[in-house]
Amino acid sequence: MQGEATEGQSKVGIVTIGTELVRGERLDTNSAWLSDQLTELGLTCVLHRSCPDDLGAIVRALRQSVEEVGAGGVLLVTGGLGPTNDDLTRDAVAELLGSPLELHQPSLEHIQALYARFKRDMPDSNRRQALVPAGARVLATEVGTAPGFAAELDGVQIYVLPGPPREVRWFWDRHLSEPLTARGHSPGPAWAFRTVGIGESALAERLHALEASGVLVRYAAEDRLGTVAVTIHLPPTDPAAQAVRADLGRHLCAEGRGVTLADAVGALLIERDLRLATAESCTGGRVAAFLTGVPGISAVFDRGLVSYSNQSKQDLLGVPAELLEAQGAVCSEVAQAMARGARDRAGAAIGLGITGIAGPGGGTEDKPVGLVHFAVAGPGERLVALERLLPGDREQIQIRAAATALDLIRLAVQSAD
Ligand code: ATP
Ligand code: MG
Repeated sequence: MQGEATEGQSKVGIVTIGTELVRGERLDTNSAWLSDQLTELGLTCVLHRSCPDDLGAIVRALRQSVEEVGAGGVLLVTGGLGPTNDDLTRDAVAELLGSPLELHQPSLEHIQALYARFKRDMPDSNRRQALVPAGARVLATEVGTAPGFAAELDGVQIYVLPGPPREVRWFWDRHLSEPLTARGHSPGPAWAFRTVGIGESALAERLHALEASGVLVRYAAEDRLGTVAVTIHLPPTDPAAQAVRADLGRHLCAEGRGVTLADAVGALLIERDLRLATAESCTGGRVAAFLTGVPGISAVFDRGLVSYSNQSKQDLLGVPAELLEAQGAVCSEVAQAMARGARDRAGAAIGLGITGIAGPGGGTEDKPVGLVHFAVAGPGERLVALERLLPGDREQIQIRAAATALDLIRLAVQSAD
């Protein structure tokens, strides 16, 4: 059953505090990140609730959440532990517990030491960050000023953490992961497959037999590259996992949690020691940006050119003026000439060319908005060309085109085996 805790299992709720969250000025990434960790541990998150920096609102949100997760449950709270007057979480928890706030001397000393290290005077308001409700267990910090704390109310274990996402991740590792693992009913080791070029429903159809056999399978449309992660609760060497590999075929682009399509392409190029040069028109360098997000890519990524005008396609890539004149910049021949030009001028093993119409203007009947031509030259004598009509607005077309290009590089390299 999804969304409901199974018998005997702790229910977990998450409350995030911050006016910026409920006003839509900042996306609540803490809830998503924490829920992902909980799911990994086999714990069921039953609620996400956000509330503004308002004492009454925080107390109500916490009270209601404690009731909903019920005795034996866990509440994770983030935000509002800062030094300013609008940081009211500690006051709210104190009110909820009916305990006064007390100064926690080691936390005060930690904050004072931080200020001393940066040779600054500590504003008096920072003393507030060393206050915790009497009886709460302090969760010391090494990543920020404010400590977190843990307390129990009506059989619910409440963990209160600072709001900055990187502090939340640190607290999770240091203070939460262990006790929560002990409460989890982990459905066994999980393994993630990342797929590209296939939607969630088509994937679910392919893996129907596996699910029917009782293996827990989760699908998550992920990252901006439009890939889908399929997590199965099996070790990667299990025969059923091997069958998934075979079923996914060319759609399987990476394995392992958090490995992106760009990571997979980078790893493949590094492993085969194939140098790449890219020439992008309508994607404006997005392929290069995704690739340069991969640590270690400098070993194989030679250059990424953004060649927008016809003149630059001639100057930088040697695309013939007559070709541009006769067929326009958006056609397969130009994509191919860009790919070859990028590769040859860099002396690389592989060249990529992309040219298309990202819109919203500039489309014609023959060449509508979303039309994108791709070409990959190499490795060796290989040359693959692809034409796609991509849906979406300007940005979506650019990102989808970048994803298509990355996948085309992957397939070109793999087919060279
Ligand atoms: P600080 O000591 O840094 O003030 P704090 O506990 O008071 O910590 P907040 O002031 O609520 O935390 O948030 C600090 C920063 O973290 C802000 O930039 C805030 O927008 C961001 N933040 C808080 N909660 C979330 C959340 N749920 N998701 C994403 N960002 C968040
Ligand atoms: Mg705040």
